[in-house]
Amino acid sequence: MGQLDGKVAVITGGSAGIGAATARRFALEGATVFVTGRRQAELDTTVKAINTENGSGQAIAVRSDVSSLEDLDRLYARVRDHSGRVDVLFANAGVTQIARLEDVSEEHFDRVFGVNVRGLLFTVQKALPLLSDGASVILTASIAASKASAASSVYGATKAAVRSFARTWAMELAGRRIRVNAISPGPVETPMFSGVVTDPAQATDFKDALLAGMPLGRVGDADEVAAAALFLATDASSFTTGAELFVDGGLAQV
Ligand code: NAD
Repeated sequence: MGQLDGKVAVITGGSAGIGAATARRFALEGATVFVTGRRQAELDTTVKAINTENGSGQAIAVRSDVSSLEDLDRLYARVRDHSGRVDVLFANAGVTQIARLEDVSEEHFDRVFGVNVRGLLFTVQKALPLLSDGASVILTASIAASKASAASSVYGATKAAVRSFARTWAMELAGRRIRVNAISPGPVETPMFSGVVTDPAQATDFKDALLAGMPLGRVGDADEVAAAALFLATDASSFTTGAELFVDGGLAQV
C-alpha cells in the first residue's frame, strides 16, 4: 500500500529538479499528481517517464506559469474538473539569479519576487477552495532565507518571505486542519543549482567553498528533498505545522 493512496497532489515547478523528483515519489506512493511547469515539452517528458515507471496515468501535466494568475486559474479548473479537490499542495516553483546589490536591476527584482513570492502566494490562495480539510501545504523555501551568500540578497529575501508565509498560513488555515510547512534545501543537484555558476572553473570553486562548511560535505540529491516532502505530505507529520524542515546536509545548522 502506498503512503499517498487515493490522495490528490499538485506540484508546481515539477518538470525538473526537486519538483520532478517529488512528483515521481508521490506517484510511486499512489497519489494522483498534477505537475506544472512553463515548458510543455519538458513537462510532457517528465510526466511520461513517471507514468511509464508506474504503469499508470497518475501523473498529469498542466502547463502553467505561477507568475500568471490566469494560468493558475486554468490549473485549478483542470484539477477541480478531474479530481474535485487537493490533498497535498507542493508550491515549489522558483527561480534564482545572482547579482550583487549594486547590480540588482528592477527586472531582476521583479522577476525573482514575481515567481518566488507573488507566484507562490497566489498558487496557495487560488488552491484554497479546493484544499480538503486536513490537507498538507508544503512551500519550498531555502537555506538562503537564513544564511547569507554573496550576490543573492534578492533570492534570499524571497525565501525569507516564503518561510514567513508558512508561519502565518499555518495559523490562518489551522481551523480547517490544514498544515503548512516549509522545506529549506541546501545545495541540491538540479538544473537550477548547475545554472548558478556556469563557468566550469568558477563552478568548482563555488562548490568547494559551499561544501567546506557543511557537515555532510556533499551536494544533496533531489530524491532526498522528495523524501522530506513525502514526510510533510503524510500523517507521519500530523503534529507539525508552521515549521521549516532543513534538508541541507547541515550547512545552515552549524
Ligand atoms: P529547477 O530549476 O531544477 O526546477 C525548477 C522548476 O520550476 C522547473 O520545473 C521550472 O520549469 C519551474 N519553474 C520556474 N519558474 C516557474 C514558473 N514561473 N512557473 C511554473 N514553474 C516554474 O530548480 P530546483 O533546484 O529543483 O528548485 C526547486 C525549488 O527549490 C525552487 O523554489 C528553488 O528556489 C528551491 N531550492 C533549490 C535549491 C538547489 O540547490 N537546487 C536549494 C534551495 C532551494
